[in-house]
Amino acid sequence: MTDRLTEPLSAVLGARSAAPLAKMGIETVSDLLGHYPRRYGDPGRVSDLAALAIGEHVTVMARVARATVRQMRSRGGAMLQAVVTDGTHNLSLTFFAKRAGVLRHHEDRLRPGRMGLFTGVVGDYRGERQLTHPDYLIVGVDADDEESALVEATRPIPIYPASASAPSWRIQRAVRTVLDPLTEDDVPDPVPQGVRHGHGWGSRLEALRDVHEPYDERQWRRGRDRLRHEEAFVLQAALAQRRAATAAEEATSRPPRGGEAPGLLAAFDAALPFVLTAGQQEVGAQIAEDLARHRPMQRLLQGEVGSGKTVVALRAMLQVVDAGGQAALLAPTEVLAAQHARTLRGLLGPLAEAGMLGGAESSTRVALLTGSLGAAARKEALLDAASGAAGIVVGTHALLGDQVRFADLGLVIVDEQHRFGVEQRDALRAKARTTPHLLVMTATPIPRTVAMTVFGDLETSILSEVPAGRSPVTTVVVPAANETWTARMWGRIREEVEAGRRAYVVCARIDPDESADVTAEPEGDVDLVDLLEAGDPGASAAPLRAVVEVAAELEHVPALAGVGVGMLHGRMSPAEKDRAMADFASGAVPVLVSTTVVEVGVDVPAATVMVVFDADRFGLSQLHQLRGRVGRGSDPGLCLLVSTARPGTPAAVRVETMAETTDGFRLASVDLELRSEGDVLGAAQSGRGSSLKLLRVVKDAPVIEQARRDASAVVEEDPTLARHPGLAAAIAQQLDPQREEFLDRA
Ligand code: ADP
Ligand code: MG
Repeated sequence: MTDRLTEPLSAVLGARSAAPLAKMGIETVSDLLGHYPRRYGDPGRVSDLAALAIGEHVTVMARVARATVRQMRSRGGAMLQAVVTDGTHNLSLTFFAKRAGVLRHHEDRLRPGRMGLFTGVVGDYRGERQLTHPDYLIVGVDADDEESALVEATRPIPIYPASASAPSWRIQRAVRTVLDPLTEDDVPDPVPQGVRHGHGWGSRLEALRDVHEPYDERQWRRGRDRLRHEEAFVLQAALAQRRAATAAEEATSRPPRGGEAPGLLAAFDAALPFVLTAGQQEVGAQIAEDLARHRPMQRLLQGEVGSGKTVVALRAMLQVVDAGGQAALLAPTEVLAAQHARTLRGLLGPLAEAGMLGGAESSTRVALLTGSLGAAARKEALLDAASGAAGIVVGTHALLGDQVRFADLGLVIVDEQHRFGVEQRDALRAKARTTPHLLVMTATPIPRTVAMTVFGDLETSILSEVPAGRSPVTTVVVPAANETWTARMWGRIREEVEAGRRAYVVCARIDPDESADVTAEPEGDVDLVDLLEAGDPGASAAPLRAVVEVAAELEHVPALAGVGVGMLHGRMSPAEKDRAMADFASGAVPVLVSTTVVEVGVDVPAATVMVVFDADRFGLSQLHQLRGRVGRGSDPGLCLLVSTARPGTPAAVRVETMAETTDGFRLASVDLELRSEGDVLGAAQSGRGSSLKLLRVVKDAPVIEQARRDASAVVEEDPTLARHPGLAAAIAQQLDPQREEFLDRA
């Protein structure tokens, strides 16, 4: 096998052609072959020129209407002006040159009646849309002879994610140059022959030819389908390998205590002030069984917001403590870690007061370890963890630090964490004698196939039921600029506060001076940043409302006169944050203006209203999380989504969907669908590199399920993939760091 695929493009195409591709991250033959067309132009059909927006980089298919060269008296030099049309609307093309002769070449190719692809940035000249010095390709003209010209003229035209310096057809030519000389031997196939034959698929090379050089639609569809299956297959094989590797590891069995010597779990259950929901019992039994095994539990617990995951987690921790081990609970922020420690201590009561006056006879301790602890508190927490005095250690990523030691770490619980990857897992594993059991909890409902893709190495449990007695949350979309609505909104908050309840006011950023760059905030709004970067269609471009600004405004809102308004955001010190949360929880300061730090897990049952500013700029899953902060007690909740979205845009659809349903799974699906849209001609055509190129995790459910079955069978039979070098190589190549991170979002 030669190594043609890894050859640098500069060696194959020459430095000049390779340079613009390199800027798009396409450096090798393999990169280029993996740069699939985003769609195909039909040579018989023109683009809708009326849909072009000024300032966009576009590629359009149109027919030449006329082209004329003339001298420019005023400026000197010559100008070629051409008009192309879709039959109804026109677009001008303008070229300038010192001498008219230079332009004759264009005039000759841009003959009226010819079809072509034109690319450039849409400009505005006296109210007309135009492309200046566009790059273009005349259909059928760039072939060697008439016959092939005819064939060429009817073939689908691959349209690639392109850039100004590497327009689509340059990429097409480059692809041909590298693809044509390749043979089957040059292109190893990650999909084993058995699987291929089973589905009647051709080779990988064939599939590449199908997508890059199709003769008709059927052909590129076939190729795309084959490559999409391959993508799913390689991903699932990687996950199957990871599952197999973990299954081979040894864990310490932590079975539940028997009846004759009841432990903490039994004492806790006996004192529980409520009855566990059926779901909590079922999932609890599953986890209890997992913990008793000699191989590590690897479980993902998805729980609808407010479904009571904390109690499930605590019961698992107590089982491990009863069996002589320790449990670590990892939270994404200091606010949440501190809250968890408080909640757990509250739930445990005297059971968590080991060594203290009034502590129960058989009891343990809950240690809190965060980055901002004072030296003394830190030393004590470290000591409790290392000695085993603390059966439960709660913390942020500080728990992963080198100085943190455990006496016998048996269980790791990761709460609401979006970046807990293999490395973190390894760091914690290194602190234990055997691989600790792992429970990942998330309140973001994950559609089944997404769970299979992103969390494919974990087994999944679902808590869908919320405890009885909860009141539903009503959601209303509030138009941002409407004063009547705004006044009513603050009036409602006053009423709630007077009735002894609390209100959150959520803003996307901290203060109005910072740019829209929300990454400045440690707690990070991944969703929001994504949407802004993607130029979310329909979302307003108005500056985002900010915590500091809104909090100051509320001081002067007549309806809120005399009502305490607090702030919570990532630039406050941990002590300030604790203070703000405590004042809010107690009701001393009943209105809290906050960033999305309150998104996850914050539990203040008396909070009944939430206002979200710029709701149209948030992702649905994030709004769902935010909304989950209200309606946690017996009083009905109200969520007011302040939106600037224009009606009918995806952004407007998002907030309206929020108002229509509280079903987290539905919201998560809609969210994903809305996000993968936007494949409109004229939309930014530079390829935003996603590690999954063709696979759509929601739409392609059958493909993913199929791939999972195929891949599991292959890996089961050949766990090291020694007999499947093509697959092993594909896994290694595809699991680049970015991909790993994607996979490890747990
Ligand atoms: P989440 O799944 O969103 O993390 P929590 O674990 O924070 O939910 O639980 C939300 C609230 O419901 C807490 O106040 C908790 O004490 C309470 N709770 C949990 N389980 C039950 C139950 N079975 N019956 C009544 N209340 C419960
Ligand atoms: Mg929680």
